[in-house]
Amino acid sequence: MRKAIVAGNWKMNGNSESINELMGTLIASLQDLDAVEALVCPPAVYLSQVKSLIGNASIALGAQNASQFESGAYTGENSPGMLTDLGCQYVILGHSERRAIFGEKDADIAAKFNAAIDAGLVPILCVGETLEEREDERTMAVVGGQLKAVLDACGVESFAKAVIAYEPVWAIGTGKTATPEQAQDVHQSVRAIVAEYSAEVAAGVRILYGGSVNAANADELFANPDVDGGLVGGASLKPNDFIAICRAAA
Ligand code: 13P
Repeated sequence: MRKAIVAGNWKMNGNSESINELMGTLIASLQDLDAVEALVCPPAVYLSQVKSLIGNASIALGAQNASQFESGAYTGENSPGMLTDLGCQYVILGHSERRAIFGEKDADIAAKFNAAIDAGLVPILCVGETLEEREDERTMAVVGGQLKAVLDACGVESFAKAVIAYEPVWAIGTGKTATPEQAQDVHQSVRAIVAEYSAEVAAGVRILYGGSVNAANADELFANPDVDGGLVGGASLKPNDFIAICRAAA
């Protein structure tokens, strides 16, 4: 039985005050939700603040990116060890915004994935196709390629300690959500690719859907057998919406 995860990717949003407010509502409202792992991923500069706000509440903490290096002359970077030091359990890697805006390639993402595993962080590996790629019927070629690059470089056993997020690029921040069928199709194919390497790891790995998840569509997305929760952007900044999405995964 895979425990659902609902992760809020706050992206580059918020300030100390808005984060105090958001976390206050989440902590008060999510304490009885044992069936779902609720996770927040604030900007790195606010990780300490969020960690201390969480205290003993059962909300997990994640980062939005990590360096592939352990330490040294890498100005502006945060190592996986620093993130665990701040109390992070998870790290989002290979988000389409990192790939498209900051030029991260599969090999960079695989190196970060390895470094995260070594530091004891659970990577959330993001994969997803653009609209053009979908229209060209290359969805699984693209998604499969992104996934296999990390499977081949890091080994399938590392996916026993990782999470996969399918985020179609055309659904991110657009209000255009994949239909439940589109999501299930890709999730099932992603699990089948992992199963080519290990049936056991494939059965256990959690695959989250991301891309315009909201309080109104979460139920039908999460009802799919291979959708194990969500990676939520915009709606994760609205406490009532995020809480409703977390409850939909229960
Ligand atoms: P939206 O939920 O705003 O579409 O963002 C999805 C996302 O990129 C989460 O990582």
